[in-house]
Amino acid sequence: MNYKNITVAGSGVLGSQIAYQTAFHGFQVSVYDINDEALELAKERIKKLKPRYQEDLKATQEEVDAAYDRLSFYSDLAEAVKDADLVIEAVPERVEIKVDFYKKLAAVAPDKTVFVTNSSTLLPSQFAEATGRPEKFLALHFANEIWKNNTAEVMKHPGTDMQYFDQIIEFAKAIGMVALPLYKEQPGYILNSLLVPFLEAAQMLLVKEVSDPETIDKTWMIATGAPLGPFAILDVVGIRTAYNITLAKAEATGNEEFMKLAELLKREYIDKGKLGRETGEGFYKYPNPSFAQPGFLKG
Ligand code: NAD
Repeated sequence: MNYKNITVAGSGVLGSQIAYQTAFHGFQVSVYDINDEALELAKERIKKLKPRYQEDLKATQEEVDAAYDRLSFYSDLAEAVKDADLVIEAVPERVEIKVDFYKKLAAVAPDKTVFVTNSSTLLPSQFAEATGRPEKFLALHFANEIWKNNTAEVMKHPGTDMQYFDQIIEFAKAIGMVALPLYKEQPGYILNSLLVPFLEAAQMLLVKEVSDPETIDKTWMIATGAPLGPFAILDVVGIRTAYNITLAKAEATGNEEFMKLAELLKREYIDKGKLGRETGEGFYKYPNPSFAQPGFLKG
């Protein structure tokens, strides 16, 4: 892997973090977004990352400033990818936006450029054709707060050439990630393939009135030694996200229990402003939730 110039397309929540993390590890990074307003927002967002890197990674002022100086900003796609070895796509999670983006990108990117998508829920094979270079296209999926939650799920689609898969694994490591290879397409990658059914099973115990969140979490924590139970994790994910996933599933399957769960999440949590950790209350009250009290696991 001898990548030098990286372009990050889409400079929102994740794109800003990916761009800064990549620059922090010494790469030249071009940030592309649709217009100057979006780029101004990205600059503000990225500047706010500097103190986070200083606090969480003990980075020095010189290091965080030097990383920022390795970024350049473009609203012209051809300019942004002129000499790119790699384009990391982090545009909104909408099929039509991504397809349109890849068609435009394919028309202006050099032949050598490898493309990766950071999509959370869509599969790379949905866009492989639009990229015009399916063999040089795959998924590279980061987690929010990338500098701390440093997983990078690297996922092939059937047409990805292994040499580019290997290069992306190497690149992910070079920007401080733990690279996690997925050799086959899997909706939800590894993490959400485990987490979504786990959280769903816990919520089903609640909606069927088998038990309450504290008891369910306590069972899991004592039996497995895990630091958080499913309802504590749901508070981190956010109840709104849990509700959206449940409602989509209820509508798609017509399953009554999912519908009941969606109603419960809305009535008892969302309508009461209990959205999880971000609002100070969800299934637990923060900053001192009961599951973190010394006696919680004792009785
Ligand atoms: P976001 O809405 O914060 O940012 C999207 C950015 O893309 C905006 O700056 C917007 O101006 C820009 N944009 C819109 N249309 C564009 C186009 N045609 N070309 C270039 N840029 C365009 O979204 P986000 O949360 O950063 O998510 C981006 C991608 O990252 C999605 O695929 C999402 O699934 C994935 N992702 C998000 C998270 C997360 O926690 N937010 C985590 C992992 C992966």
